[in-house]
Amino acid sequence: MTVYSHSRLKTFEQCPQRFKYHYIDKVETESEETVEAFLGSRVHEALEQLYRDLQHQKVTSLEELLTYLRTQWTENWTSEVQIVRKEYTAENYLRMAEKYVADYYRRYAPFSQSKTIALESPISIDLDGSGQYRLTGFIDRLAETSDGCYEIHDYKTGRLSAPQTLHSDRQLALYMIGVKSQYPDVRHITLIWHFLAFDKEMDSTRTDVELQALREQTMALIDRIEAEERYVAQPGALCDWCEFKPLCRQWSHLYKVNESPAAYKADSGVQLVNKYAEVRAKQKEADAEFDNEVVRLEEAILAYAAKENIDVVFGSTNKVRVTATDRFVFPAKRTKERAALEKLLQQYGKLAEVAQLDTSAVGKCLSEKRWDPDVCEALRRYVTVEQSKRLHLSKIKEQ
Ligand code: SF4
Repeated sequence: MTVYSHSRLKTFEQCPQRFKYHYIDKVETESEETVEAFLGSRVHEALEQLYRDLQHQKVTSLEELLTYLRTQWTENWTSEVQIVRKEYTAENYLRMAEKYVADYYRRYAPFSQSKTIALESPISIDLDGSGQYRLTGFIDRLAETSDGCYEIHDYKTGRLSAPQTLHSDRQLALYMIGVKSQYPDVRHITLIWHFLAFDKEMDSTRTDVELQALREQTMALIDRIEAEERYVAQPGALCDWCEFKPLCRQWSHLYKVNESPAAYKADSGVQLVNKYAEVRAKQKEADAEFDNEVVRLEEAILAYAAKENIDVVFGSTNKVRVTATDRFVFPAKRTKERAALEKLLQQYGKLAEVAQLDTSAVGKCLSEKRWDPDVCEALRRYVTVEQSKRLHLSKIKEQ
């Protein structure tokens, strides 16, 4: 039985192909850590050390804490740590880490807001109590306030989230489910995010109803992952931080031809795409020219027919017939008027007579496995899967 984690679920949602490389094929890569992840780990370690010392009645000074951070940074740093943004150096990132820790320290010293119960503590979550949907995670800091409420603290070293997105954040809400079952007598739990780069604290909580909805959504997502067969790649901004980029089918050709100028020149794929782009550009230009010419001529023929009061205009070997038909214009899709029209047709019992089966919507439901397996299975008798391939030409972003 697979035990899931928030990052495992998130990886699947962001790119099923990356999920496959990481969790199914367990592909090992040379450089697995980006400088952002390295910085995150060192900052987490420093804050863990701060609270661990406090648990042992030792108040660490800011200078001691920064020394600890720098030592951990130096001892763990290797040339394998990947700096994606080439305009910055490792030193810049170390300065950032120092600032995050120092801001945090000054904001919360002498750290008496709450009592630490657990640090970097594993939490296990059983979504339906059957053991079939299990997740695990690590809580950065679990604390208890003087009035007996619990706090789940999470340190973020990345970008700032909008407050409304925190209310739908899955990670800490899942941890809340775990804490609730581990400490059944807890009265209230607050979820607290520390956005260290912005010296900002934000919080939220969840009702029992919201937690139940989250359980159901997460179980449905796990069902989707377990039924997945294709693991389609979703290339996007996160590719630059993906450790599998050199072997991913979306990028491996670029890596191959960039190996040397000779490889680039000799590659027939490069030549084909260059030619294809050139021909498509010419085709586009010619199409645009033809389109304009066609519109201009059609307008002129219509004007001629109207002026001469005729329906057919003769050329040397061709003729053009002008016909006029009335066309009904309906409200556009997804407008209030369109909804009212559909409602009216329904009232008169006429909707079924004019409604058409939306096969692309059915295809989408089948491919996303949105319906029960027996419904999908029954439909499969009438549906065959054909693979079609299309070419999408686009400019390469500056690397
Ligand atoms: S490089 Fe991009 S598309 Fe390829 S696996 Fe990684 S995230 Fe997915």
